[in-house]
Amino acid sequence: MTQLRSLERLLPPPNPHWVGNGFHVHHFFPGNGGPSQERMSPFLLLDYNSFADLPPSDLPRGVDVHPHRGFETVTIAYRGRIAHHDSAGNSGVIGEGDVQWMTAGSGVLHKEYHELDFTRRGGPFHMVQLWINLPAAHKMHAPRYQEIRSENMGRLPLNRGFAEVIAGSCAGIIGPASTFSPVHLLNLRMDADDRFEWALPSNYHVALLAISGKSVLQGDRELSQDHFALLGKDGEGILVESRMPNTTILLMAGEPIDEPIASYGPFVMNTQSEILQAFEDFHSGKFGTLQGE
Ligand code: MN
Repeated sequence: MTQLRSLERLLPPPNPHWVGNGFHVHHFFPGNGGPSQERMSPFLLLDYNSFADLPPSDLPRGVDVHPHRGFETVTIAYRGRIAHHDSAGNSGVIGEGDVQWMTAGSGVLHKEYHELDFTRRGGPFHMVQLWINLPAAHKMHAPRYQEIRSENMGRLPLNRGFAEVIAGSCAGIIGPASTFSPVHLLNLRMDADDRFEWALPSNYHVALLAISGKSVLQGDRELSQDHFALLGKDGEGILVESRMPNTTILLMAGEPIDEPIASYGPFVMNTQSEILQAFEDFHSGKFGTLQGE
């Protein structure tokens, strides 16, 4: 019999703030009353743009050119479309249900905008950006992108709905994303009175974000839309029971990377001197160039 994990933290969405002019996000961690980067490792940051119905606009919406080094950014488009461009000449668009997994590694400049036609048309927008740390040995990996279309995700049937496996694996179903440390990233797409049960080693960090609907966690704790739950490390078991149709839950789990974290703005390294080096490399043009909007 698997010991259920406790529910360690249940957080309502914090007051949102703007990232550029395109992302109005609830910042669940780090800081802001949420768990620390050490407690969430390998996850570094969670920004959540809850559902918004955007009016049409002729002005671009997004975040202009900025650098990253030392980690990965994972952007999940539940609704709406996002375009990106970077200093290595890469660009792409992710649409509804898709995920962009960007390894910043040794460093990129990029910009993240709502796709132009979507901006002009307006419409539903619902988005997650999750930052995932890289082990020290891979922080200077060459930048790369994985564009993960919803149809390419692993699909695990539940009683009535299904789970999409984006990264890692669950019950033998493997996700397409390649990761540098053990990470499991799943969308639980549940119908009413559906059930998801899983066990992960107790040292793994496990958290859930309710994208839509209503569910009960760990047998007796209600999880409402836009709330975040951190499970304890006092067991292995994870139990999610949906209470509404169209209940979608993002489940993030991973083995902690047991290394020091030196984090400053868009750079996440292991030591202060590596952060200074990142600034120096950024200012001396080693991240390349990219035209702003
Ligand atoms: Mn970025």
